[in-house]
Amino acid sequence: MPTTLTTDRPSRPDEMLAAYAGQFPVHNPADGSVVGWARDQTPDEVIDTVTRLRASQPEWEALGAKGRSLWAGRLRDWLLDNDERLTALLQSETGKPWAEAALELPTAIDALNYYAKHAREVLADQHPRPHGLMTATKRLTTAFRPYPVVGVITPWNFPVALPMLDAVPALLAGCAVITKPSEVAPLTWREIVRGWNEELGALDVLACVTGLAATGAAVVDAVDYVQFTGSTATGRRIGQRAGQRLIPCGLELGGKDPMIVLADADLERAGAGAVWGGLFNAGQACVSVERIYVEAAVYDEFVARVVEQVRALRQGADTSRYQTDVGAMITDAQLQMVTRHVEDALASGARALTGGRPTASAGSFYEPTVLVDVDHSMACMREETFGPTLPVMKVTDAEDAIRLANDWPYGLSASVWTNDRKAGQRIARRLDAGAVNLNGVMTNIFTLPIPQAGWKQSGIGGRLGGAYGIRKYCRTQAITSDRLQLGNEPTWYPYTPRKGRLLAAIFRALTARDTRRCLRIR
Ligand code: NAD
Repeated sequence: MPTTLTTDRPSRPDEMLAAYAGQFPVHNPADGSVVGWARDQTPDEVIDTVTRLRASQPEWEALGAKGRSLWAGRLRDWLLDNDERLTALLQSETGKPWAEAALELPTAIDALNYYAKHAREVLADQHPRPHGLMTATKRLTTAFRPYPVVGVITPWNFPVALPMLDAVPALLAGCAVITKPSEVAPLTWREIVRGWNEELGALDVLACVTGLAATGAAVVDAVDYVQFTGSTATGRRIGQRAGQRLIPCGLELGGKDPMIVLADADLERAGAGAVWGGLFNAGQACVSVERIYVEAAVYDEFVARVVEQVRALRQGADTSRYQTDVGAMITDAQLQMVTRHVEDALASGARALTGGRPTASAGSFYEPTVLVDVDHSMACMREETFGPTLPVMKVTDAEDAIRLANDWPYGLSASVWTNDRKAGQRIARRLDAGAVNLNGVMTNIFTLPIPQAGWKQSGIGGRLGGAYGIRKYCRTQAITSDRLQLGNEPTWYPYTPRKGRLLAAIFRALTARDTRRCLRIR
């Protein structure tokens, strides 16, 4: 059977031929050209890959955190030496402006440096003090032992940063990692994994399998831990399968992030934050600003600032580098989704103050759009749009904004804009979101020491979070040993009345917190 992507059916003879050979084309959404090919790998190939990784993993684990950190450093250096080439490849398969494509490698390298620096300390054995009589003579150890093979399945919107944010801590934890990038943009990540294996000659503990949903499902079926980033619908399927297999999973899913602008906010900064936070990556970021609530007193001024800035943005294929601000929609399906949301809003009484339709040009672009007169009956406020739209809604006060912000099944991140720091902190703690940025947008995806974890239908588990970022890929192992070797333990056989009464008295004396109960006074 030919292998095709639902949105990109091969039409030319060479594409048809490759499709029959088990390959699919990867397109540049900025101009529609085919920029590469990837194989649709079968479940058997996934099993073979995992078997290979499983065989190499003990040697990798035995290197220790220090040895593994050295390899992280080698990968960092290789990425730096190849950054132009990799960024160009990434731009060609995503249609991003150069400025945005060029942010991915620094994010990946930041993760490599951060986890390499902390892995040793984070993975060191812990020795808590015994807490009571039963274990008073014991030495207690918590050891962190890696899951042998971790599967990392990722979407297309950050094709290097996302696999890196998950694969790096897993590798440093001592796991082998099989990655499955999105079929829509697999080329750059596949090239990085090739570099690791072929140019650096590292141990066979990092693999990339390419393919469609069935390849991803085969990964879930073969690994010991699955870390997934993608849509809530796919995440639910993966969670179910992981539950059946009784393997742990981390799910980083969709969002509908609210932005709350209070009357005392710095409107210049809030306006600029809304425009960048909503339109970065053409709005195709899980934590992008998806809906904006503005206090009535500053609504008109805020909207005017946003519209002015959006109208000034440049859009198109950024072939000359740094010449455009807003890039392409990744697929036709994504373009259609945005079109549907905007048309639904306009038909229901909303107005587009700028934008409001697909861009009339080659490639897959949608005009950066500001929508007003929107409400929660409209798809643009209810469903993840994942496009360059900024729907802005007037609210009476902060209470109104909090109520509306929490009125959805998603809880990925949110932002609050106010000059009153205490009020900002109070509001943050009332929002149902795994991350809240005060007077900022998307900051949380760059903060490695604190968690990035979606609430509600935005996810389970989480990534990043300092020590947690690495330890989540480990099984904790409790090891007890003797500090003081006794011939026999007081609780072991034989049971005698004398020993029993003595032990009971000692337990009582140590556990009671008042004299009457300690001495059994009635
Ligand atoms: P998607 O769910 O369609 O695909 C993600 C990955 O899962 C792809 O590699 C795909 O091939 C694979 N896949 C599909 N079906 C599978 C199955 N049954 N079993 C295993 N793997 C399967 O998502 P997408 O369209 O690529 O990405 C967009 C979505 O990702 C948006 O909803 C966005 O919010 C979300 N996202 C979330 C985060 C986060 O950190 N929370 C970050 C980026 C993107």
